[in-house]
This record gives sequence, structure tokens and C-alpha cells, in this order.
Amino acid sequence: MKIAVIPGDGIGGEVMDAALTVLDALDLNPELIMADAGDDCLERTGTPLPDETLEAVGEADATLFGAAGESAADVIVKLRREFGLFANLRPVRSLPGVQCLYPDLDFVIVRENTEDLYVGDEEYTSDGAVARRVITRAASERIVRFAFDYAVGDGRGGVTAVHKANVLKKTDGIFREVFYEVASSYPQVEANDYYVDATAMYLITQPHEFDVIVTTNMFGDILSDEAAALVGGLGVAPSANIGEKNAIFEPVHGSAPQIAGKNIANPTAMILSTALMLKHLKKPQEAQKIQEALEETLRNGLVTPDLGGDLGTDEMAREIARRIEG
Ligand code: ATP
Ligand code: MG
Repeated sequence: MKIAVIPGDGIGGEVMDAALTVLDALDLNPELIMADAGDDCLERTGTPLPDETLEAVGEADATLFGAAGESAADVIVKLRREFGLFANLRPVRSLPGVQCLYPDLDFVIVRENTEDLYVGDEEYTSDGAVARRVITRAASERIVRFAFDYAVGDGRGGVTAVHKANVLKKTDGIFREVFYEVASSYPQVEANDYYVDATAMYLITQPHEFDVIVTTNMFGDILSDEAAALVGGLGVAPSANIGEKNAIFEPVHGSAPQIAGKNIANPTAMILSTALMLKHLKKPQEAQKIQEALEETLRNGLVTPDLGGDLGTDEMAREIARRIEG
């Protein structure tokens, strides 16, 4: 198993060290390829994303990414494009000992990652500006199929399409149409759809409704941050960017420069991203071991200050590793 490791900037390095401590406690002995990216990298090498890093991601079975500061857009957006990482996966799961609105949530958001307003195709007009929103059948079908396959693989019973087809009749009309076309080949999975505004409300009022949500890029961006807040916020939210051949796993948070270098960053999001990677690499038992060791550590309050504890990032990681080693 070959894993590219990009710690990046700010707390990226600290949470990555923590994730590697946890990974090392499993008997997997992966080959790690350390790679450089981000602001510090730009300062040192003149580019935030050197060719060697692209090579490392290309040859690895999967990549762990910490965080990039100001250059985040250049780095992660370019990586997504370069490797065709069309699916953004955001598990939303409550954790013991982490303050949240609901203690028993478990659903995932699958966000289309390549088109929609995120392409940034904007121009000024005589009296303002215009942005083009492209929704293709091909990209819609690919992401919807991914969501249904994920639902089947993860033993989930339902997929909900989220859109605004009442207003965006053509673009989101196509998304919804393709959704039900694909759904018909998954009779064992329940399919339904909601408008994005209703979904924003239901996420707060009845989030247990959801199992797998699939949506377009911009709506996914907004809803996944809302959903992360439901279960404890940035420090505990993992994510994955998945393509046909490559996949990159990263915490939802950024480089958090204000708390960097103090050994107080919460490593949970990075560690859960690592578990997500192992699941993707067909190592579900190892992923489960990380999940259980992390939950026990959280339950015992052996946590960083943001969760009310007094452990350092490295100490929390060692507590988790110790529980994996047994
Ligand atoms: P960037 O520009 O790289 O996104 P940022 O300053 O926006 O950096 P974020 O990482 O987005 O920082 O996080 C915003 C705030 O949330 C941080 O300043 C910090 O207080 C908190 N935070 C984020 N991640 C963590 C973490 N892993 N542990 C503890 N607190 C965190
Ligand atoms: Mg930020």
C-alpha cells in the first residue's frame, strides 16, 4: 500500500503527524511518500504544487492531505482537476464527548466536484456581472451513480437528491431527471428528492431523515458546512475527494494559522479522514479499529482544549494509537 502524504501549512503538519502516529499503530506498514504543497512550499520552491507532488499523488494508492493556507485554492482545486476527483464525500457522524445538536446522526453528503458555479466562469457585463452554471448529463450521472454505489457498499437504504429544479428548471431539471434514471437500476435503495432550501431547514429540524445526500457542487459546499456544524464543527469533520483512479483524504478545516505551532489542534478530522482512506482502500477492519479507538479516547475526555481537554495534539494521537495496539 503506497500512500502520498502532504502535510502542508499551519496545523496541517501537526494533525498529519497525529494521523501517522495512529496509522503506524495498525499492522499495515504502508509505504509513505512525503510530498510538499502550500504556502511554505511556495516560499521555498517557487510553486505551491511542485511536479514531484503531482507525481507522488499519481503513483500512490491514496493521498493524505493536511491543509494549505492562502494557496489552498491553487493546491486542492488543481489536484481535484488534475486527477479528476469528481466526488467529494463528507460523512456527518456524531461522536461521543463532542458537543453537538444531535448525538446520534450518521449520514453522508456526496457533492459533485467538477462543474456548476465552482468553475468560476464569470464575466462583467455593462451593468454588473454574470456567472455561467454548467450542469452536464455525464457529470450528473457519474456523481449520482457514485452515490448509489456508495449507499449499496456502505449498507445504506436511501439516497436523496438535493436541487432547486423549481427555479433552475433546465440545469437542476437535468440533475433530477438523471437522478431518477440512475435510481431505477438500484431498486433496493430508496430514492427521493428535496429542494435545497427545504434541505437546509430539514438538516436542522429532522436530520435523521437523511442517509446519503447527493447534490451539485455549490449546494454541496453550503450544506456540508451546515451539516458539519450539526455534529461538532471543523475540528472533527473529515472528507474525501475521489476519482476513477486516485483519491485524496483531508480534514474539512484549513491551516488555522492562529493556533498553529502550539500543539493544540484537534487531530480528529485528520484521523477520521485516514479511516475514510482505509475504508476506500478496502481495509474496513482497520478503519473500524481507528474509529473505535478514537471514540473511546473521546469518551474518556483524553482530548485537545477545543473539546474541553488538556492534551496536546500529539498526546491525543498517542492515546488513540495505544488503544489500537491494545
Ligand atoms: P485557512 O485559511 O487555511 O482555512 P482559517 O484561519 O480559516 O485557515 P480554519 O482551519 O478554516 O482556519 O479554521 C477556523 C478556526 O476554527 C480556527 O482558527 C480554529 O479556531 C478552529 N479550528 C479549525 N480546525 C481546528 C482544529 N483541528 N482544532 C481546533 N480548532 C480548529
Ligand atoms: Mg477557513
